[in-house]
Amino acid sequence: MAPRTAGSVTAPGRGGEAAARRGAAIGGSGGSGGSAPRVNTAHVRGLSRYFGGQAVLDQLDLDIAPGEFVALIGRSGSGKSTLLRALAGLDPAVTGELQVDGTAAVAFQEPRLLPWRRVSDNVRLGLRADDTRAIARAALDEVGLTARADAWPLTLSGGEAQRAALARALVREPSLLLLDEPFSALDALTRITMHRLVLRLWAHHQPAVLLVTHDVDEALSLADRVLVLGGGRIAYSGRIDAPRPRDRDDPGLADLRTRLLTELGVALEVNG
Ligand code: ADP
Ligand code: MG
Repeated sequence: MAPRTAGSVTAPGRGGEAAARRGAAIGGSGGSGGSAPRVNTAHVRGLSRYFGGQAVLDQLDLDIAPGEFVALIGRSGSGKSTLLRALAGLDPAVTGELQVDGTAAVAFQEPRLLPWRRVSDNVRLGLRADDTRAIARAALDEVGLTARADAWPLTLSGGEAQRAALARALVREPSLLLLDEPFSALDALTRITMHRLVLRLWAHHQPAVLLVTHDVDEALSLADRVLVLGGGRIAYSGRIDAPRPRDRDDPGLADLRTRLLTELGVALEVNG
């Protein structure tokens, strides 16, 4: 079967308006005015990515609804980052159908701040707007980093650096926020604070979120839906309806936790 070309990814940092229009047109909702039919924020069909003849993504299908919080788990090397990079428009070598309605922005496990630019300058990097300084200040405010706006990145703690990375993603007003294990290098307490922050930012800005994590409990406490990536496809998808904030001991989550661990191939020694 001939792979189709992935052509409609909007590159991060592009003008959101044009990108949104493009996505809407591709999704078939443009034109008539009034209430447009709902377009998925991410629409992926038959997405494949080969490295050295090996399919890391193999005809993968995925939809993410506007404002939906999706967690993606999978064994190391299963292709999670590859999928995220494709959704971010950073991988021209993927094949298949891939549409992002609006703008995607990414935060990676390493905050990737430029050490020779102050925090606020990192946040407004690449922004094209009249007052990028004010936009950066507002975003830093929101992530609780106002006091560190003029600091050099190397003087930040791990948690502060991730806050800065979140602010840098937020200023793009993404319709799709892609988070690649952003909390995995943080200590447990900082991680809990960051979970709260992400939920607050999500509630306020209402982007769709795709959070890659290797932590099943992180997925269970944050997401509307948890996906397991395996064999180059979405091998399992489980919905969570429990209201937030969630108690990780909620018995309603126990079955899904067991199922996810089974999907990951993790043997359970203790149950209940
Ligand atoms: P995950 O994020 O799930 O740990 P990745 O998406 O980073 O996995 O990688 C999936 C597989 O693709 C791995 O086997 C990895 O070695 C391979 N891979 C990823 N990027 C490249 C690359 N640029 N060149 C060659 N192989 C790659
Ligand atoms: Mg990865």
